[in-house]
Amino acid sequence: MRKISLFLFFLLLPAAPLQTQTREVAITIDDLPLNGAQFEPARIRKMTENFLAAIKKHQIPAVGFVNETLLYRAGETDARIAILKQWIEGGVELGNHNFSHLGFANAALADFEDDFVRGDAVTRILMKPNKPRYFRHPFLQMGKTAADEKAFEDFAATRGYKMAPVTVDVMDWLINVAHAKARAQNDEALIKRVGEEYVKFAAQRFDYSEQIAQELFGRPIKHIVLMHANELTAENLDALAVTLKSKGYKFISVEDALQDPVYQMPEKYLGTSDRLGHWAFSQGKKLTPPQPAEFLQQPYLDNQRNRR
Ligand SMILES: [Zn+2]
Repeated sequence: MRKISLFLFFLLLPAAPLQTQTREVAITIDDLPLNGAQFEPARIRKMTENFLAAIKKHQIPAVGFVNETLLYRAGETDARIAILKQWIEGGVELGNHNFSHLGFANAALADFEDDFVRGDAVTRILMKPNKPRYFRHPFLQMGKTAADEKAFEDFAATRGYKMAPVTVDVMDWLINVAHAKARAQNDEALIKRVGEEYVKFAAQRFDYSEQIAQELFGRPIKHIVLMHANELTAENLDALAVTLKSKGYKFISVEDALQDPVYQMPEKYLGTSDRLGHWAFSQGKKLTPPQPAEFLQQPYLDNQRNRR
């Protein structure tokens, strides 16, 4: 009898709550110096200050990926280069996101390699005595074939580069359009609401990636989250970091994250550096990540429509 009740006792013990597990994530920020619709350097400087304050407060070892084409704006080039310096002085390591945000899916290997080489000319000088060592594929597009991708990665390796895939996409590149629109309308209440909903949505995306990692690998993994150099994330990174810490997250470097074997290329090739999606595809699974609320998506969709 005693044996049975002891057995029942263990059976009824709740599984360890997730919050007590250590979760790890490396934070990466794409499209430096400014993601999305462009605005003047004073405002970019302010945005960068907000980012750096949150990074310092939470001791986040971030990597920022630069598109050097964004440095060349009439009358703004010096100021935009100074903004890259601001990131470096704030302790953020810079990486290469190629020169013109060229996607690999529709580019010839030689063109993609050239755009990569052009991509770090200024960054390399600013970072001395350090050297850029991480590359992020624009649009997360890897080569059309595994052979193209391998050729590019081998070429990049001769210049000291490793690839930086992602496992969490908080979709700030999309939600930022709603944020920018609210700001253009001076709608403070809406700016605040978009920010709060973004943090909640980002937390859902983290939960989803944890769940998928558990299904694919049977264990928690070292995540890499994709964010962007925009005002939405700059103004909400502090709140997001607080939320992540309350979920048990520790901020790690990209170098540390890449030690996790999940970052080895899956067997079956899919041209994306969304690494969980790639692994899922390789295992014949389809992912259905949560999507942002309609009011967060609509301004982005309207923009896309107007561009056509
Ligand atoms: Zn990008």
